[in-house]
Amino acid sequence: MSNIEQLLGRLERVKGRNGSWTARCPAHDDKGPSLAVRHVDDGRILLHCFAGCPVESVLSAVGMDFGDLFPPDEKRQGYPVEGKPRLKPAFYASDLIRILSFEALVVSICAHDIRRGKKLSDEDHERLKVAQQRIEEVMHYANI
Ligand SMILES: [Zn+2]
Repeated sequence: MSNIEQLLGRLERVKGRNGSWTARCPAHDDKGPSLAVRHVDDGRILLHCFAGCPVESVLSAVGMDFGDLFPPDEKRQGYPVEGKPRLKPAFYASDLIRILSFEALVVSICAHDIRRGKKLSDEDHERLKVAQQRIEEVMHYANI
């Protein structure tokens, strides 16, 4: 089994195809698909949690390490097993749009509650702030 198959097999709510997926982040109490996973052409696996979990935490939650993100030949040369990969993650527009769409849903549920005269709970209010942070982060990743 390849590393990417192993990783996807250990994640929940995996959606996507063609080397690009979103999933529930295993490193925090994730209500939405915060984790973006990409398998790039050179064999590397890119991971990013839009709620801000470090890659180390995501990897340790699924029992993997940095070495598992690189193809075997690079691992043999001692390509970063410790520390962060040098390359900045790059994500497809489809990953980013999937996350935006989920955050839009969160905002719309809150708006619906407010319209019905329901008071926003502290938890909902915090979740709205997270939605805003994620949308900003998506903009950053899209280089906007
Ligand atoms: Zn996370």
